[in-house]
Amino acid sequence: MDLRIDKLLAHMGYGTRKEVKKLLKSGAVKVDGAPVHDAKTKVRPEEQTVTVWGEPVEYKPYIYLLMNKPPGVVSATEDPVEETVIDLLEDEDRRFAPFPVGRLDKDTEGLLLLTNDGALAHQLLSPKKHVPKTYVAIIDGEVTEDDVKAFRRGVVLDDGYEAKPAELVVLRSGLRSDVELTITEGKFHQVKRMFRAVGKRVVYLKRVRMGPLFLDPDLAVGEYRELTEEEIKLLK
Ligand code: URA
Repeated sequence: MDLRIDKLLAHMGYGTRKEVKKLLKSGAVKVDGAPVHDAKTKVRPEEQTVTVWGEPVEYKPYIYLLMNKPPGVVSATEDPVEETVIDLLEDEDRRFAPFPVGRLDKDTEGLLLLTNDGALAHQLLSPKKHVPKTYVAIIDGEVTEDDVKAFRRGVVLDDGYEAKPAELVVLRSGLRSDVELTITEGKFHQVKRMFRAVGKRVVYLKRVRMGPLFLDPDLAVGEYRELTEEEIKLLK
């Protein structure tokens, strides 16, 4: 795979694309011994030796992206009609063939992890791992203490499945209520179905946390960034 040198270095943790550009200008970067200044230069990291200040850059074929998913796109790798989260990626990132870790509904916003690391995805999605996922939601109707208790006990979904205990925090109760809900499983339309089980409807849903990852407030809706080394470590 050939990649732009600025993308490769940003991917390998040498800073943002802007910081990497500076690094290139400074003459720190060499490919097979020859200095490279142009951010657009293509390299084949598996075959060529890239160094920064003389230190070889060890190429890792994995990519980890944290997206603030916008509503209106589907969290799939391909779709015959709908726009997908993969369509929102830059070409250089798409070449790593990332896929979304789990699904958010088309109308759900917020934290979505995309990676090509199948083992990590498997671990995060395994029902045995009970990875907590936190959502903020707006509910049509008044969410009550009884609902909080019911969620804590485990509500029964439309197919008879008893949801695991979940932590519901009512931020504001009224004709429309603001809530925060943490669940440790990921059944199809789980949050919407849990509220349906207590006779209420979710009108807005956004995921803000998945395990140790939190939605980055600096990411506008539809934007994404690579995970930091620290975030990757926390996930593993
Ligand atoms: N629960 C839902 O109902 N929808 C989502 O997108 C995520 C969790």
